[in-house]
Amino acid sequence: MHVTPPNWATLAEQAVMHLCNLIRLDTSNPPGNEAIAAEYVARLLTAHEITPVVIETAPQRSNVVARLKGDGSAAPLLLYFHTDVVPVERDKWTVDPFGGVVRDGYVYGRGAIDMKGIGAMQLAVFLEIANAVRQGKLTPRRDLILAATADEESDANQGIGVLAEKHPDLLQAEYALSEFGGFSAHINGKRFYPIQAAEKGNVWMRIIAHGQPGHASIPTPENAVVKLASALAKLAHARFPARVTQTAHAYLSTLADNIGGKQGVALRAWLDMDALREVPIQRVLGNSALAAELHAITHDTVTPTGLRAGYKTNVIPSEAEATLDCRTLPGTSADSMVKFIQQLLGEDHHSLKFVVDSSTSAVEFPTQTPLFKLIVHTLQRHDPAGIPTPYMMSGGTDAKHLARLGTTCYGFSPLQLSSNENIFELVHGHDERIPISALAWGVRVLYEVVASWICTP
Ligand SMILES: [Zn+2]
Repeated sequence: MHVTPPNWATLAEQAVMHLCNLIRLDTSNPPGNEAIAAEYVARLLTAHEITPVVIETAPQRSNVVARLKGDGSAAPLLLYFHTDVVPVERDKWTVDPFGGVVRDGYVYGRGAIDMKGIGAMQLAVFLEIANAVRQGKLTPRRDLILAATADEESDANQGIGVLAEKHPDLLQAEYALSEFGGFSAHINGKRFYPIQAAEKGNVWMRIIAHGQPGHASIPTPENAVVKLASALAKLAHARFPARVTQTAHAYLSTLADNIGGKQGVALRAWLDMDALREVPIQRVLGNSALAAELHAITHDTVTPTGLRAGYKTNVIPSEAEATLDCRTLPGTSADSMVKFIQQLLGEDHHSLKFVVDSSTSAVEFPTQTPLFKLIVHTLQRHDPAGIPTPYMMSGGTDAKHLARLGTTCYGFSPLQLSSNENIFELVHGHDERIPISALAWGVRVLYEVVASWICTP
């Protein structure tokens, strides 16, 4: 590796500046309005003598892609981030969520973590590498691509999904790095670095019960509300079988070997002995947030999230509807999810209608790769006590769109957080914020991984 290191303090300052500037551009989705963020990114790239491609997928919904050329002897690396954020409940914030406020060592604002903070790191790294290449300090073999895209925080895709479909040549890469991993997570006093290599799919669907309408003064078992409620109660108590995919297995193994104590032993036993899979993981680990997360990544799940029925107290409606958010493991299709739900409901399912509104497949990428190894080594070098591990996310990211192009995607956005900072509490929360020290640590780790990888044959 022939990398002349940049000035790390300056690199961190650049990342903080980009983050504050991006936060000040309100890209709450809906409606998104990501064109203002795209304009910011495009202007920066142009100022660094890089010509960006700006693609507007709908009015005010723009995406930016830029490329630094390597010598072409090895396949490209893609860094990508979404520029939209989830909306805020303004009165619950103690600072202006779109002020880009720096206070007590944190940058506050919507998107500080998810994911303008990561985007700012990618941007700083990309521009720094561009400078190094221009000055002849770095001779990349691989193209480095940067994509700042719209509309991740919704299912109506105006972002990377459209780009992957209509402009695959812009994004085509061997590997891609983005959210949601590489940050430190403290479990039982140990510091882990989950690197996302898999994510669950989703099936967003409705169950509709039809019944006999009538006057509410005469109760009937043909009441649609009652039918729906009883189906939901059955689903709430249903036990889906445990299935441990290779990424979940690697994650659970790392936890079992490192958290120690009774919990570690119990987790190892649960993993090693198939019969024990019948035992709920909650009972293995005790009732904790960790058990809930591990349950989610080892099971298909169904969560009712909405109900709709009735219009007047004294009228039995003819229809009642529930929305379900189902999350699927790799290998579970939308069809098999619906069939499984029907099975669980038994005979009752014949009187219900099942409508799938949208679905995405789970994705799982190999971790026995040279880039994954480089990520692990770089993390270990910067935090010798830290424990990097492959990780499966219970939610989903834009990685599924790139998976269709054959790209191996890792959630790698390094942040070193202290033990009292939980990333899951910061994401989408009120007073979303990122510690500047975590960002400064992360941007250096990201630079080292990216600069080293693009020069690797
Ligand atoms: Zn995100």
